[in-house]
Amino acid sequence: MSRFYEVEPSLENYWRAIILFGKNSSSYKFALAKALYEFRDSASDLITLDALAEPFSRHVCTHIHQSSKQSTRENPGRFLDACADFNNGVIPQEQLLDQTVRLGFENVIDAFHNVARKTLDTRFFEDERKGAVKAIRLTDHFFRLAEQVVFADIQYETEARWRLVETAWQSNISKNLLAVQHDHDAGSLFVRMNDRRIDITSCRDSLNGYQKGRCFYCYDTISIDSSADNLADVDHFFPWCIRHDLPAINGIWNLVLACTDCNRGEGGKFERVPALSLLERLHARNEYFINSHLPIRETLIKQTGKTELQRQQFLQSCYGVAKTQIIHTWRPKPKGGSTL
Ligand SMILES: [Zn+2]
Repeated sequence: MSRFYEVEPSLENYWRAIILFGKNSSSYKFALAKALYEFRDSASDLITLDALAEPFSRHVCTHIHQSSKQSTRENPGRFLDACADFNNGVIPQEQLLDQTVRLGFENVIDAFHNVARKTLDTRFFEDERKGAVKAIRLTDHFFRLAEQVVFADIQYETEARWRLVETAWQSNISKNLLAVQHDHDAGSLFVRMNDRRIDITSCRDSLNGYQKGRCFYCYDTISIDSSADNLADVDHFFPWCIRHDLPAINGIWNLVLACTDCNRGEGGKFERVPALSLLERLHARNEYFINSHLPIRETLIKQTGKTELQRQQFLQSCYGVAKTQIIHTWRPKPKGGSTL
């Protein structure tokens, strides 16, 4: 987990740490993050709870509609009940907003900046609920983050993360049994429960949480916005052509985001084996996911081994198989500084 800070302690790192590594006993953190995104152009830095209540409750209502379990607690509590009641037409929006102001923010404002049981010093808002008007005050950190190009990707990642978390809760089975699979054609991740397939997220959105808008190989900038010119390719690290020789080649352990140049441009990887230094990078990436405590972690452990040593040996043996089958190795021409 420390990698995350040591390598690039930028604002986006801190924000991602909150979203990716924050401890979740309910999905409020995601809802608050998504609500805050909507205030990026706000004229004032003071956001009242009254103003926050609408977007915050809207995001919770949308998610509760698709996945009723938004908390790990047995009893979801009065705020989530109010959201469900609103969805079912039992209470009007006015009442929902009133309940949101009174109950919805109770813990999430305090806990938002907690990561790995510690509060981050870099804050994106200050708590002003003790003032004359109950509010939070957005900090310069928030507005600076909102100006960055990566802000669009961060919004996708938040949604992807939320889907993963609620899917794990909804399934109500041990996370060990929840295998995340990749649909090569649709480019999505899904789980299968009782023979029913549940799409959880775009594969790109999840992978980008580690790569932060950079090609896995050359560090050139890539986007996960499907309308962007530099839309990332989902690439098999060990090429698809040796799928019969490697276990679970479509597994998340073997998928990375690459720029089109590296994947299929002139001098691209195509069906070659990435150089050994890139294998080390893949190992570091997989260990990062394993530290993130969500279904991807369980899937990776199942596919590649219980201990770090086993996982390292697994990758080494795949590398051996790939090298002896394909022979040719490939390394990218670096285009940007390492951010990984
Ligand atoms: Zn590249």
